[in-house]
Amino acid sequence: MLTQLNKMEEFKRTEIASLGEFGLIDHLTKHVEVKNNSTLKGIGDDAAVLDYKEKQVLVTTDLLLEGIHFDLTYVPLKHLGYKSAVVNFSDIYAMNGQPKQITVSLGISKRFSVEDLEQLYAGIQLACDVYHVDLIGGDTSASLTGLAISITCIGEANKEKIVYRNGAKENDLICVSGDLGAAYMGLQLLEREKKVFAGEKNFQPAFEGREYLLERQLKPEARKDIIKELAKRNIVPTAMMDISDGLSSELLHICKQSHTGCRIYEERIPIDYQTAVMAEEFNMSLITAALNGGEDYELLFTVPLAKHDDISALPGIRIIGHITAPSLGAYMITRDGAEIELKAQGWNSLNEEN
Ligand code: ADP
Ligand code: MG
Repeated sequence: MLTQLNKMEEFKRTEIASLGEFGLIDHLTKHVEVKNNSTLKGIGDDAAVLDYKEKQVLVTTDLLLEGIHFDLTYVPLKHLGYKSAVVNFSDIYAMNGQPKQITVSLGISKRFSVEDLEQLYAGIQLACDVYHVDLIGGDTSASLTGLAISITCIGEANKEKIVYRNGAKENDLICVSGDLGAAYMGLQLLEREKKVFAGEKNFQPAFEGREYLLERQLKPEARKDIIKELAKRNIVPTAMMDISDGLSSELLHICKQSHTGCRIYEERIPIDYQTAVMAEEFNMSLITAALNGGEDYELLFTVPLAKHDDISALPGIRIIGHITAPSLGAYMITRDGAEIELKAQGWNSLNEEN
């Protein structure tokens, strides 16, 4: 009986039309409370009002389209909401700032019910609570097909603490937080199980022992903790960005904008055990997953050589190489001492090089 009730609960479907646009916005945002002093007026007027006093204001935005950026066959809506918000926070941290407000704009097709959007907003709200960010507005529209989510995040930083991509200097150390390639392997796993699922009735996905990979793909976190640690130790990176498109591509951005080259060392690149096991199972190059995988949302940054000991003392940060003169190009030194040029392209670039 209870399972039946739960099932009914699960399949309860309220049409959005029954609430109307304004009713829907009210319904989804009725529990929103303002947390930050810089939010003078949130949801409910023609525009939100913010007061940043003497701070500089950071603004970043992301557009996510169903079928292009996410696949609802294996991404739960609550996770999608959480991730959509967190990837924006990550961009603000990558400037060495603090995210404070977001706006959320939605395009919604008829396929989606009020309950679906409740799930999406539960995820967004959870991310806002965890990262102490205010939801201050947005826009809502019908769409012909699929779901579209655009989130804009506003953050703050002291002028002299903002870190751009263009500040890396020769001999600076190149550092990354966490580990790389796991989110990509999580995606490969989900895609594989989706294919198996398509052909089977009583399907049990093979996820055991791979929870870390799934979590990295479905519920990434922004490295607020690293920003805090760096500040505590008075370390201001010379250049920084978050790793959303893969280490190779991001490092090339820093080198290009800073007019430098770089050397990184394969043996120094942090990779989790589960990522390695999965790469072997898929018969994929592990280092390629780590270099080009993307969606890790770890921080990539450079610091002056003199900060070597301070950085080494920080848990969860690995020094993977150093910045060079621009004429030396951007290369990775492999375990057997070969030099491979870093490329920004996708998955197969390294294999082709070999
Ligand atoms: P307008 O007609 O000026 O676009 P709306 O009726 O769309 O205003 O929005 C009313 C209020 O609700 C505004 O404060 C707006 O920012 C907010 N809002 C609209 N859509 C969303 C949404 N999807 N999420 C959060 N707030 C929203
Ligand atoms: Mg509107």
